[in-house]
Amino acid sequence: MSDYKYSIEAKNVNKTFLKKNQGVRALIDFSICIERGTIHGLLGPNGAGKSTFINVLGGLVKKNSGHVSICGIDIDKNIKLSKFKIGIVPQELNIDPFFSPAELLELQAGLYGVPKKKRKTDEILENLKLTDQRNAYARTLSGGMRRRLLIGKALVHDPEIIILDEPTAGVDIDIRSSIWDYIKRISREGKTICLTTHYLEEAEILCDNISIINHGKKIIEGSKKELLNIISTKTVSFVLDNKFIIPNELKKYKPILNKNILKLSYDKNETNIKKIIDILIENKMNFSEINTSEGDLEDVFLKVTKDF
Ligand code: ADP
Ligand code: MG
Repeated sequence: MSDYKYSIEAKNVNKTFLKKNQGVRALIDFSICIERGTIHGLLGPNGAGKSTFINVLGGLVKKNSGHVSICGIDIDKNIKLSKFKIGIVPQELNIDPFFSPAELLELQAGLYGVPKKKRKTDEILENLKLTDQRNAYARTLSGGMRRRLLIGKALVHDPEIIILDEPTAGVDIDIRSSIWDYIKRISREGKTICLTTHYLEEAEILCDNISIINHGKKIIEGSKKELLNIISTKTVSFVLDNKFIIPNELKKYKPILNKNILKLSYDKNETNIKKIIDILIENKMNFSEINTSEGDLEDVFLKVTKDF
């Protein structure tokens, strides 16, 4: 069973929805390879097609064409088995309000045919810090608790792949970081994780590899490092001791002088910071502080989506 390289492999998937008699192309020749044991981010703005792809994986949306395998299993040949390999945490917080967390996990385990003895309801609740809410009505749970409960539901059958659709959408900052910690933890335990997000910061913190999708098409895919390298512009700012007139040699670094803070941009493949510091020293522009910043995923995203 373990002779597959990619946990998820999709090739040329197309999906068109009919909306008011018009075709909406939610996925256009969409291909992706998700390596085993990695955290893979599917990034894109609202409406890009992320949830549609996840629903295709879970058998909730039927693709029009293309191939998808999960742990080497073709979903068109054995959707029942491929479904067992994944646990999906949906984007919507749809929880039956009259069940308690413990009941919901037991029900879900029953749906997947997990025998009573093998169920890990209390362990999952404990790991997700929901032990105190074990028997409370789900409708009394906060948004963050509901999100954690949905993660728990996706884990009951101990799937090899966990898919999280916008895991922290609308969640408070402190809960966000506890969800991130939990995702990292299940990743360390050997699970493959695929998450969608429109928070670039989330992808930057969590993901090994990233695919950027827009208007149903994959625009770019690579390791986080490869993607960040697309942006070769760095910025450096100096806290100057006095206000100075900007010398001509610095003009090509697009100087911005705000009070006594001088901000310069340069291409890291062409210039290094030493060159810039030398110019300041030659011009007797004394400074007390230097700060540099690299381009982040936000810059990458803006750059690659600009043409679409
Ligand atoms: P994302 O999750 O990236 O925000 P979605 O996959 O939800 O994007 O949506 C992609 C596109 O498909 C959008 O234009 C959306 O309106 C459309 N879409 C998604 N689901 C349906 C549906 N069930 N019926 C009609 N259109 C849909
Ligand atoms: Mg979505």
